[in-house]
Amino acid sequence: MVVYLVGAGPGDPDLVTLKAVKALKKADVVVYDRLANEEILEYANGAEMIYVGKRAGKHSKKQEEINKILIEQAKKQEVVVRLKGGDPFVFGRGGEELLALLKEGIHVELVPGVTSAIGVPTTVGLPVTHRGVATSFTVVTGHEDPTKKEKQVKWNYNADTIVILMGVGHLKENTQEIMKYKDPKTPVCVIENGTRPDERIVLGTLENISGKKINPPALVIVGPVVDVFKDIQENMPEDQV
Ligand code: SAH
Repeated sequence: MVVYLVGAGPGDPDLVTLKAVKALKKADVVVYDRLANEEILEYANGAEMIYVGKRAGKHSKKQEEINKILIEQAKKQEVVVRLKGGDPFVFGRGGEELLALLKEGIHVELVPGVTSAIGVPTTVGLPVTHRGVATSFTVVTGHEDPTKKEKQVKWNYNADTIVILMGVGHLKENTQEIMKYKDPKTPVCVIENGTRPDERIVLGTLENISGKKINPPALVIVGPVVDVFKDIQENMPEDQV
């Protein structure tokens, strides 16, 4: 019995690691979240498929329920693959699942994935660090667990680049918070559905981005690297933009 905790990447099925493909090929059962592209499930031809992600209009399964399913499957099957979008440890609750499995004495293999936080900007030509412009970046959630008593996100980051995940719902409040620490004219780039056929890029500044129409899933990137991106875009050959 082994559980592979696997990152599926940001959507483009070619951005899956070879290690993920090898694990899927061996899988007896695949426990998966909503994935942007289910093509990669085809590598697990013949395996049982258990969907634990969100269904239209309904909530996703509770984390405890998912942990229970994983433990049950691990005890029953030789190879379980737990597949998550992006990287399993970047806002994927992978750490919680790992702990739950380890506490049951279950062997877990960890397979990182291309996180949307870096992979998506890279595919469009937006460098999260850039010599002379940004020496650091931070990745933060735009949507803290509403049941938390006190907010952990303080927004006064020293990082030159801020990458916000789950940032669409509270974009207005969050940009207002960041403007307490950064110039309202700081450029912002939003990438919707990165690496997917319906990818869309919206540009703006801290003070005006929340007035634009943006749909999840999207990344919000704040900082002077967005100006570098604009420069790169202008220099990209037509067929690559
Ligand atoms: N574990 C994932 C993140 C899960 S949180 C990872 O490493 O990428 C879900 C958030 O990720 C979304 O709200 C969105 O902000 C971001 N996201 C995931 N895939 C994306 C994509 N293809 N394009 C833009 N944002 C994406």
